[in-house]
Amino acid sequence: MSGNAPGSRIAVYPGTFDPITLGHMDIIRRGTHLVDKLVIGVTTNPSKSPMFSVDERLAMVRREVADIANVEVVSFDSLLMDFAKSQGAIAILRGLRAVADFEYEYQMAGMNQKLNDQIETVFLMADVSLQPIASNLVKEIARYGGPIDKFVTPSVAADVAAKLS
Ligand code: ADP
Repeated sequence: MSGNAPGSRIAVYPGTFDPITLGHMDIIRRGTHLVDKLVIGVTTNPSKSPMFSVDERLAMVRREVADIANVEVVSFDSLLMDFAKSQGAIAILRGLRAVADFEYEYQMAGMNQKLNDQIETVFLMADVSLQPIASNLVKEIARYGGPIDKFVTPSVAADVAAKLS
């Protein structure tokens, strides 16, 4: 793949990734099969009071996707549509879990369409076994000392344990 060569299809996958889960990883792998380059946009999102700083999340996501060729990981602190445009993206990738995700995602996709009708929002579903995984529940389980190894990679589990110790 040749960077931002003319005609190359770029999508942006935005999220907080606090921390990155196996659900995120599955969406990333599926997304990379659809485009020439997938830009993972790590939001600073201070309103969510993340467990990990944006630099920690950037490093974590970069490490976890290191074996995927057509992925780039960057942070952003702007309107998603402005970020997507700055990356030359034709699409925004989102993962859909259950009904609970739908309303928020539907509203966001609708408003983003109003902001820029040239960039499509594309929804993917993770493997059925990974669909229930959510970063906030992973953190909650870990805070109570529960095992999170079915939801994140061993290195992310170690990062979470280190954060909590
Ligand atoms: P946000 O803070 O925007 O909710 P997240 O880091 O929680 O970001 O998630 C980023 C994207 O990944 C969202 O579209 C979310 O729905 C999707 N996602 C997260 N976990 C899963 C999963 N287990 N299966 C499918 N999609 C998921």
